[in-house]
Amino acid sequence: MLRLIGLVKPLSGYMILAIVMGIIGNLCAAAITVLGGYAVLQILQHESLALNILFCIVVIIALIRGLLRYAEQACNHFIAFKLLALIRDKVFAALRRLCPAKLGGKDKGDLISVITSDIELLEVFYAHTISPICIAIVFCIMVTTFIGSQHWALALLTLVAYVTVGIAIPLVSSKLSGDVGIRSRNKSGHLSAFVLDSLRGMSETLQYGQGKKRSVEIDAMTDALSRDEERMKRVTGRNTAVTNTVILFFDLTMLFASAALCGFEGCLIATLTLMSSFGPVVALASLGPTLQNTFAAGNRVIDILDETPIVEDVDGRTKVAFSGAAAKKVTFAYDEDTILKDLSITIPENQIVGITGRSGSGKSTLLKLFMRFWQVPQGEILITGRNIDDIDTKNLRDMESFVTQETHLFHDSIRNNLRIAKLDATDDEIVAACKKASIHDFILSLPQGYDTTVGELGETLSGGERQRLGLARAFLHDAPFLLLDEPTSNLDSLNEAVILRSLHESRSGKTVVLVSHRKSTMGIADQVYNVEHGRMS
Ligand code: ATP
Ligand code: MG
Repeated sequence: MLRLIGLVKPLSGYMILAIVMGIIGNLCAAAITVLGGYAVLQILQHESLALNILFCIVVIIALIRGLLRYAEQACNHFIAFKLLALIRDKVFAALRRLCPAKLGGKDKGDLISVITSDIELLEVFYAHTISPICIAIVFCIMVTTFIGSQHWALALLTLVAYVTVGIAIPLVSSKLSGDVGIRSRNKSGHLSAFVLDSLRGMSETLQYGQGKKRSVEIDAMTDALSRDEERMKRVTGRNTAVTNTVILFFDLTMLFASAALCGFEGCLIATLTLMSSFGPVVALASLGPTLQNTFAAGNRVIDILDETPIVEDVDGRTKVAFSGAAAKKVTFAYDEDTILKDLSITIPENQIVGITGRSGSGKSTLLKLFMRFWQVPQGEILITGRNIDDIDTKNLRDMESFVTQETHLFHDSIRNNLRIAKLDATDDEIVAACKKASIHDFILSLPQGYDTTVGELGETLSGGERQRLGLARAFLHDAPFLLLDEPTSNLDSLNEAVILRSLHESRSGKTVVLVSHRKSTMGIADQVYNVEHGRMS
């Protein structure tokens, strides 16, 4: 809770304003009823002038109350939605810090659920929790003092009433609802993950006739989630019933106690004041069950903010120009199993170095280490003779082009998909890169050419077309150090030949690490290494 409150700091001025308006507004609301009580007394004493004045005051106070209520709510919601935007920003920044090592194995659907619904739920905390608590405390102290001016025992009774309604009931109801809030947040995360997974695995599901099974699983998850929500709503309902009954009990107790202690006038004023003053505490009482849900969401958000990255970005180092790379006695494991053992390799400038090896031997892993996607625990990776951890991350990424085994295409036009490799690329540069990657003619054959939108998962394109777009990106990026992971695995020999020729023609000033199982591709390499049991041979 303190962490969540800490995030309000940049907007604390608005928060104080909301609290002040809330207190005055609630005092006005209570004053209307209490003045009504005084009006009754004036009527009994036949004071018509005072009655008229009271009537005018009540009208003015009612108007002020309306305005303040609006302003308080506007202020609170301004704070809440501004904060949600700030928190989203922080979460995105945290996700960027965590990429790619920490996010690789994470449940993407669960992350989406944190970014969307969990952050959204914090609105309850920022708009309906912090300032109402402050308002309730100050307001209750003021009302207790006022009632105490009639008799001290009545002040005590008022205090007990507020503590029961505002603290005891919410606490008990929160205890009774158990950890249903936390469970429902986690379930909602799992449901998103499952739906996302199902969408991704659509073809496998269809091919193996698993559609029914998956939809039954989704149904079961939805039912479990709705059962939890039903339980929370039941708790809320019970909570409201108990709160209202307890309020009635205290109102009646006040009526009899004040009648016995203060006479008619004191009794009327004290009872009316108490009756009209439960608004702020009831607002707290109704928070009980939802607050748990909110804190569960808050925890999930804070967990992401607190997660430490495996690889920290390096900033502010002097730039280096690329002149060869090397791995020196590198030992690396993702978890327990060692993938690379004491591995050393030198990649001289302007050479094409081929790497082969059986599937799972760690070829892609080595390329990721050259990209500094993971931290090397033993040994070192050198670029231009300098440890990769001492090179400015931006500088490093500018020096390298990495074509992965799976080219991801964003849901955008082909042109924009290519442009991420070089934001200020001219159309001519894009066309030249596509020609090199043997994809230009294909793009022109599409209905809108370079402006054709490709689907989210690149489903509208074949594996080979996607691979060539990945290569076109690398050619466009035009970095001196090219890391190509199976760049020709999905290509026919004709396209492979075009790409190998392009690589060969543009090799001046380029250093290339080429991972491939294909002999024909390895043909253009100056030297070929084989990874076996984590070592080079
Ligand atoms: P292929 O020829 O099939 O592409 P590869 O030589 O490129 O294989 P890598 O992708 O480097 O193999 O993987 C080496 C090993 O590390 C594999 O056993 C793989 O299961 C494991 N591995 C890869 N990525 C991770 C990861 N993020 N977390 C844990 N293990 C991983
Ligand atoms: Mg691989």
